[in-house]
Formats: sequence, C-alpha cells, structure tokens
Amino acid sequence: MHVPFIELDKEWKSQQEEIMTAIQQVIDKGQFILGESVQLLEKEIAACCGVQQGIGVANGTDALVLLLQALGIQEGDEVITTPFTFFATVEAIIQVGATPVFADIEKDTFLISPEEVERKCNHKTKAIIAVHLFGQMADMKHLNQIARKYHAYLIEDACQALGASREGESIGRWSDGAAISFFPTKNLGTCGDGGMIVVQNDELASNLKRLRAHGATQKYIHEQIGMNSRLDEIHAAILRVKLKKLKQWNEERRTLANNYRDMLQDLPVQLPTEVPHSYHVYHLYTIVIEERNKLQNYLKQAGIGSGVYYPVPLHLQKPLIPYGFKLGDFPNAEYACEHCLSLPLFPGLTEEQQQTVVEQISLSLRGVQ
Ligand SMILES: *Cc1c(COP(=O)(O)O)cnc(C)c1O
Repeated sequence: MHVPFIELDKEWKSQQEEIMTAIQQVIDKGQFILGESVQLLEKEIAACCGVQQGIGVANGTDALVLLLQALGIQEGDEVITTPFTFFATVEAIIQVGATPVFADIEKDTFLISPEEVERKCNHKTKAIIAVHLFGQMADMKHLNQIARKYHAYLIEDACQALGASREGESIGRWSDGAAISFFPTKNLGTCGDGGMIVVQNDELASNLKRLRAHGATQKYIHEQIGMNSRLDEIHAAILRVKLKKLKQWNEERRTLANNYRDMLQDLPVQLPTEVPHSYHVYHLYTIVIEERNKLQNYLKQAGIGSGVYYPVPLHLQKPLIPYGFKLGDFPNAEYACEHCLSLPLFPGLTEEQQQTVVEQISLSLRGVQ
C-alpha cells in the first residue's frame, strides 16, 4: 500500500459544493480586492485567536515583513529568531534591512529556547520572532517577559500553528503580532497563496492596513511607502468555508498523532514532545532518528512519503554567509536538520495507512530489505 506524505483531496472534496458556490458568489459580485469576504474572514480569524484585529495579506512571508515594517524595524536593528525554521522567517528580517541573530532551539521540542534568546539580547535587539514550529507554540509567556525586559517587540511566526494554544492562550495573545499563512498545505490552506496578521493594537492594525495597500490612506493619497500585499477576495471566500472545519481537522491531526505515539513507542525513535498545557496542532509529525537518510530511502522504496523539515539550518544557508556563522554555532538546530523526519499526517489519513507506515519503519530499523 502506498501512503502519500500529504494528500489534500479529502479536505477539498468534503466541502466542494459550498466552496464552488462561494467562488461563484465572488465572481457574481465583481468585487475582487478587499471586499466583504476579506473583512469577514479577518473578523473570524481574529475571534478564533481571541485578539482584536486581523489583516489579510498576500502570504505568510509578507505578513512577517509587514509586521516588522509596521513596528519600525530597520537597518541597524537586531532581530532574534531560531535557525530551525522555514527560510521565510529570516528572509523577512533581512528584507527590512535588519540584522538576524539566532538563538538555538530546545532539543526535544524544536522550539526556540528562551534562555538562549536572553543570552543574545542587547541594546540593539529590537524584536524577537518566535516560531511555532510544526504546530506547537513556543514558550510565549517566558519570551514575553524577556521582550519586555529588553524593550523589544515580540512577533510570532504562527504560519504552522493556526488553532494552537499554550496555557490557554492562542497565537497572537502574548505578542505584538502573529503571522499566519494560508499556503495550500498549512492547517488552513487555500488554493494558492494567502496570509493574515493578527494584532491586539488598533493603531498597529490601521498601520498594517495602509502598508498592505501602497501606504494609502484613501484612494491615490499615499502617506508612506508600502507594498501591494492583499489577500484576494476569492481566497477569503474559500477560507471562510474551510475555517468552519479547522477545529475538527486539528482534532483529527491530534488523534492521528496519538495513534502514531502508541504505535511507535517501542521503536528506537524520538517522538514529538508535547509541552504540558500545550494544544499542539501537528502541522507536521516529526520524529528524530539516528539514521534518518537510510530510513527515508527505505520508506521511499516501500512507497511511503516522508519529508525533511528542514535539511539545512538557516545560519548555514548561502545568503547568510556574509553574517559569518559557522558549523557548530547552533548544535541543537544542526542536529535536528540531520536527524528529523516528518511522517505522513493530514486529515483523512487512515489508521490502516498509519499502520503501514509504522510497519515499514519497524522493518527498516530491523534491517530487513
Ligand atoms: C509557510 C511558512 C512561512 C511562509 O508562508 P508563505 O505563505 O508560504 O509565505 C513562514 N514561516 C513558516 C514557519 C512557514 O511554515
């Protein structure tokens, strides 16, 4: 039996008619940019996070860039983040002209270590970007204390974590703003690119709404240099339909993760750590294993998809060479890049498929060809 790493068909098919109707309504109305659907989705996502405002933007990367820009982060400022995340996190920092500073991750959770963050704080530190990697929130309470102490902004890269919470607080609650992505494979995905920023401060929200539309306060009157980064009305309409199922899908992801935990517990692999009082939404189910590449090849031969998120830590990526990082600077992130493997996990994955995945992992570890 083949098991794909990810398959979105079931998700889409379960709401096909409603989605097609929503698309048709947008076309019939003829309002394609910043219409009613975007406004409603902004309200709904903000409510789902328990924050004041949502601002629909073109993608999760722009959400990060716009947040940094709106908070006034610029050349000469240092922004601390994790070296173990998708490239966009550091790209956003460099895009606004700021200097990226890395703090290593905790080995068991893959999340940025607050202690390491504090070690990197100084008078140039203007912001900290926490990344809720694989769907689990970083220690926002602790990071919030550090950010306050050093008068730095706190931003969340919540692109993988819509619906997650920690100690009862959702994304966006402990920070100045959180970036969300609606890329097709995210927990809430559209059929293209899309993103949102959620913030608690109304003034910051107004600023972000200006920035996403060329810095204009009204049509053809421009207050500042912004960009063109809006969430399309058609994507907002689709996402409003899909949002109704997000809770159910996240629950399903958690059930699948529990199944894996039960099935894999006797094998010599490190399973994902769930922090106490954390609602992990399992964007990815990522194990740590000594001979990662060998296992991935074995699974591939057996028709089972898997993924390496991420093969190279950010400090060792080519565009970061000018900053002078070297191998050994962030040992936990480097270890994760060499030993992490993400297994198939998506709404609609069956228990039978999970069993097949686990059987093949077990065969590979026993050296059966
Ligand atoms: C997906 C993702 C992004 C970027 O989102 P896009 O919508 O693809 O621009 C940023 N950070 C993380 C951690 C992501 O997973």
